[in-house]
Amino acid sequence: MSSDDPPPLKSLLRDEDIQRGIDESGIGMWDLDLETRALFWSSATRRLFGVAQDQPVSYELFLSLLVPEDRARTEQAIERSIATGCGFDVQCRIREQPDSGYWVRARAGIVTGKDGMPRRLSGVVLDIHDQKRLEEALRAREEHLRLILETIPDAMIVIDDHGIMQRFSSAAERMFGYREAEAIGRNVSMLMPEPDAGRHDGYLARYQSTGERHIVGIGRIVTGKHRNGETFPMHLSVGEMWSGGKRHFTGFVRDLTEHQQTQAKLQALQSELVHMSRLSAMGEMASALAHELNQPLAAISNYMKGSRRLLAASAELNMGKIETALDRAADQAIRAGQIIRRLRDFVSRREAEKRVESLAKLMEEAGALGLTGAREQNVTLRLELDPGCDRILVDRVQIQQVLVNLFRNALEAMAGSPKRELAAASAKTADDMVELSISDTGHGFSEVALANLFQTFFTTKETGMGVGLSISRSIVEAHGGRMWAETNPSGGATFRLTLPIAPTESLSDVA
Ligand code: ADP
Repeated sequence: MSSDDPPPLKSLLRDEDIQRGIDESGIGMWDLDLETRALFWSSATRRLFGVAQDQPVSYELFLSLLVPEDRARTEQAIERSIATGCGFDVQCRIREQPDSGYWVRARAGIVTGKDGMPRRLSGVVLDIHDQKRLEEALRAREEHLRLILETIPDAMIVIDDHGIMQRFSSAAERMFGYREAEAIGRNVSMLMPEPDAGRHDGYLARYQSTGERHIVGIGRIVTGKHRNGETFPMHLSVGEMWSGGKRHFTGFVRDLTEHQQTQAKLQALQSELVHMSRLSAMGEMASALAHELNQPLAAISNYMKGSRRLLAASAELNMGKIETALDRAADQAIRAGQIIRRLRDFVSRREAEKRVESLAKLMEEAGALGLTGAREQNVTLRLELDPGCDRILVDRVQIQQVLVNLFRNALEAMAGSPKRELAAASAKTADDMVELSISDTGHGFSEVALANLFQTFFTTKETGMGVGLSISRSIVEAHGGRMWAETNPSGGATFRLTLPIAPTESLSDVA
C-alpha cells in the first residue's frame, strides 16, 4: 500500500465509541482492498455473517458464506463497481446464519487513491431480512389476488376518475378481445356502443359532482362492445374505491350471452312441454269423455230402438217418417261416440321417441323448468341420484313432462309448510328398472285423495284440472314402468315411478 492511498476503514474508526455505537445499531461495516483482496469486517458484520470476532476473514470466505445462487451475481456486481467506479448495492442471502437464506444488503462505494485509481470498496451491510420477508408476503398476496381475479369468470376493469383504464383482467381480455396492454391507458368508453360511449365521460363527471348513483353499487344489465364491433348483453356492477389518494372505479362484468341463450333454450323446452301437456290433456279428456259419454249414448240409442218398436204397434199416420227420424237419431248417437273415440286416437297418436337419456340431465332440466320461483319460496332440492343407473331409455319430453308435473304439484303442496324440502332419489330395482322417488314436505294426502290421485279429473285445487297425474301414469306405463304415491313418514307426499334402464349396447346412442 502506497502512502498516497486512503487509510483503511479500520484505522479511521479510531474512536471506539463511534464504532461501538454503529455496531450496536446492527449496521455492519466492511472494507475490501482491491489490490490485495484483504477484507475487514466490523463486529456487527461478523455477527450478521456468523463469524467469530477472532476468526480471520477473506474475500473467499465472504463469497462462500453466501447461498450458492447469489455468489456469481455478487461477484459480478463487485467487478462492475471496480470497472465503472460506481457504487455497489447488492441484496444477497447468507447461507446458514441465523437461518438459511438470511437476507442482507451490502452497499459500498469505490475509494480511489490520489492517482484516481480505485483502491478499495468500503461500505455497510444491513440486515434486511424482515423487510424482505414482508416484501415476499406482500408479493405473494398480490399474486394470490391476481390469480383469484384471473380465475373468476367475471371480467374486472379498474378505471380512474377520468374513465382511463388502469387494470384489465384476463377475463376482460377474452370478453372484449383487447390485450391488457392495448386497453390500459385508454378510455373505457371503447368497450361500449353508442350512445353510452359518447356519454360515459359525462356520466362520470355527473356522478362526481352530484354523487347520484345510477350504477355504482347497484349493478345493471348494459350492452358491451367487443373489439370486432359485435355487441353483447352484460351485467355490470361497479364499486368505488380510493387508492393512492385518488378515486377509482372497479367494474365487474358478466357476459350474459350464454345466459340468454340458455333462457331461450329453456323457454323453447318449456313451450314444447306445455304443448305436449295440452295435447296429452286433450287426449286424456277425450278418452275420459268417450268413456263417460258412451253409456248415455248407448242408452239413447237403446231408447230409440225401443220407441221404434212401440210405435210399430200403433196406428200412427206418420209412422214412416217417425221411424226414419228415430233410426237417424240412433245413428247419430253412435256416430257421436265414434267421433269422440277418433278424437282420442288422434290426439294420442304421437309416437313416443325413446332414446337413451341421462336421468340426471333430465332431472336437471325438469328442475329448471318446474322449480321456477322455488328459490324465492325457499325450497331446496336435494338430489341423490345413483350414477350407476343414470342411463334410461325414455321419451325425453314425456318424462320431463311427468317430472315437471310432480315438481309443480310438490311446490303447490308445500306453499303453506314451514319446512320446504324436495328430495329426489334414484335406485336400481331387482327387475332392472330404475325407481325414482320424489318426496316433499307438503300437506300430504287425505284418504280420499290418496285413493283417487290418478283418476282423470280428480283435483283438490280450485283451479286444478286433475289430469296431470293420470297423464303421468299413462306415460310411465307406456314406458313399461309403474307409478304410485305414498304418504311419507313426516306427512308429506312421495311419488314413485319406475323407468327402464337402457340396455348396455345402446350406450353409444348417448350424445
Ligand atoms: P292438479 O294438479 O291439476 O290438481 P294432478 O293430477 O296433478 O292435477 O293432481 C291431482 C291431485 O293430487 C291434486 O289436486 C292434489 O290434491 C293431489 N296431489 C298431487 N301432488 C301432490 C303432492 N305433492 N302433495 C299432496 N297432494 C298432491
